[in-house]
Amino acid sequence: MLSMMSHDVDLIVVGSGAAGMAAALRAHDLGLRVVVLEKSEHFGGSTAMSGGVCWVPNNPNMKASDSSEEALDYLKHITGDEGDPEALEVYVRESQRMLDYLTRNSRVRFDPLDKYADYYAEAPGGKPGGRSMESRPMDGTRLGDALRTLRPPHPQSQILGKFGITAGMAHSLLTGGWRGTLLMAWCFLGYLARTFKRRVYGRDTKLFAGNALAGRLRWSLLERGVPIELGLGLEGLVEESGRIVGVEVERAGQRQVLRAARGVILAAGGFEKNAAMRAEYGPQPSSVEWTAANPFSRGDGIRAGADAGASLSLMDEAWWTPTTKVPRSDLGWVLVVEKNLPGSIFINQHGRRFCNEAGPYVDAGRALYEEHEAGAPAVPAYMVFDARFRHNYPVGPVAPGYAAPDQRTPRRLKDDFMNRSNSLSELAAKLGVPEAQLCATVNRFNEQARAGLDDDFGRGDTLSDRYYGDPRGRTNPCLAAIEKPPFYAIAVYPGDLGTKGGVQTDSSGRALRADGSVIAGLYAAGNNAASVMARTYPGAGGTIGPALTFGFLAAEAAARDDR
Ligand SMILES: Cc1cc2nc3c(=O)[nH]c(=O)nc-3n(C[C@H](O)[C@H](O)[C@H](O)COP(=O)(O)OP(=O)(O)OC[C@H]3O[C@@H](n4cnc5c(N)ncnc54)[C@H](O)[C@@H]3O)c2cc1C
Repeated sequence: MLSMMSHDVDLIVVGSGAAGMAAALRAHDLGLRVVVLEKSEHFGGSTAMSGGVCWVPNNPNMKASDSSEEALDYLKHITGDEGDPEALEVYVRESQRMLDYLTRNSRVRFDPLDKYADYYAEAPGGKPGGRSMESRPMDGTRLGDALRTLRPPHPQSQILGKFGITAGMAHSLLTGGWRGTLLMAWCFLGYLARTFKRRVYGRDTKLFAGNALAGRLRWSLLERGVPIELGLGLEGLVEESGRIVGVEVERAGQRQVLRAARGVILAAGGFEKNAAMRAEYGPQPSSVEWTAANPFSRGDGIRAGADAGASLSLMDEAWWTPTTKVPRSDLGWVLVVEKNLPGSIFINQHGRRFCNEAGPYVDAGRALYEEHEAGAPAVPAYMVFDARFRHNYPVGPVAPGYAAPDQRTPRRLKDDFMNRSNSLSELAAKLGVPEAQLCATVNRFNEQARAGLDDDFGRGDTLSDRYYGDPRGRTNPCLAAIEKPPFYAIAVYPGDLGTKGGVQTDSSGRALRADGSVIAGLYAAGNNAASVMARTYPGAGGTIGPALTFGFLAAEAAARDDR
């Protein structure tokens, strides 16, 4: 390990998520000697904890017809004034090249999600599905011993806390009735069949979602002999004559310098777990407990970039999503599915609805802040639902009531987490919201739910809203009356999947100063860089697609720069 440190390499990549591993892979294939530094003892970052979905327009896997022109129209429309048309055009073109390259030259494989609509599918150039693709599952034993150091998945993606499933399976499970139950039984049999391997590796060996994506990237790096140095974090950048020539790291209490002829790619993720940076840059109130992301996302790469003179932008932004806090878990739990299912609403602390809960999660998450800033306390807000919802659908870590009824649910989840109450009045008292207003809100919502039309916020009007709805027996798959006691409510926070502000780059990933000049030898990608998607989220996979693409492009730029 130390000898690695005494040898120079061509390129240092900081961080082993989607951006870092894609960069390392491409750099190696372009003939560079590359090393990846990873601060934690696990590789994969938030990428490994994610759904592993990647958004690439006009990809060859999709059934819907698409074109680069439509994709660019769409991105320009949804990013508005803040989108950079040149960078968006680069994304549309180069994401397709990145995908083609990885498919032909690596172990990375994506399968289409033909029903997963763009988040603004009705906007010009929007599509009803297929631009989002999910990582194909893999047998983790292909990684050998490295499997033990793959960051574990987010617990919320684990069925019964034990095994993962694909996004396609999750969708069928939610609304599949008996088919869902059969699918579940099949997955469980597969899990049992892996018992021996599980004992050997100390974890489940079949990788799904983000674990599969991180696993496939690592598998590709292992085959190339590209090292990932675990437990070795960037402490600072080394500059000589205006050029970044290496990094400072600390090992066993000693500062050491690792040099790289072609410079450094910063791919160390965002700053969602850094309370001071959240306080300095983000909307308030905020907490590191509301994010669902990797605990090592502490903004190290962003601060190092800024110290080297890079300009930062979009620092007040994140990939927002409503999350909840679960007893005995340090991670925020994403409510992407629950918020769309019929028979639930979000209320502020005055007992009023304030947004289309089923809208894109980036908007629903931001809506909590907007409501709060407008004067109605909404941090936390509450998701209110009834016995029918509880019976049919999962709520955070609590399985649907048909599989896990309240009698078999621990008190900390039933009472403390879900605030089970026999009446709306009792629920209002528990939450401290005005009883009359809560009842009025629920009554009005119920009238609209019965009519199948949410006149107030348009819940269920779009393809994206309906993706996680339940169409069985309903004209509007996102609407059902909240009427059957007992009633429940969980706290909802303006959480995130990661921050999206960081080092400003040009469209090949080169770090820029405030005057627009390039910092020689310094590159950034993924959540370490300011996002090409500005303040929006085009569709599922809208963060990993750019992380892979701009990691890939940064490596190409580094390979071109032979001074
Ligand atoms: C539950 C969940 C589900 C999600 N689902 C999706 C999805 O399906 N599709 C999608 O597009 N997005 C999804 N996201 C968001 C997505 O996971 C992230 O935006 C993306 O993975 C970020 O990739 P990255 O390479 O920038 O960072 P990461 O994957 O976080 O990698 C950064 C790495 O850098 C390391 N690091 C940090 N500091 C240092 C340092 N000083 N030195 C060395 N290494 C360091 C970290 O430990 C980490 O391993 C999801 C997020 C979560 C939490």
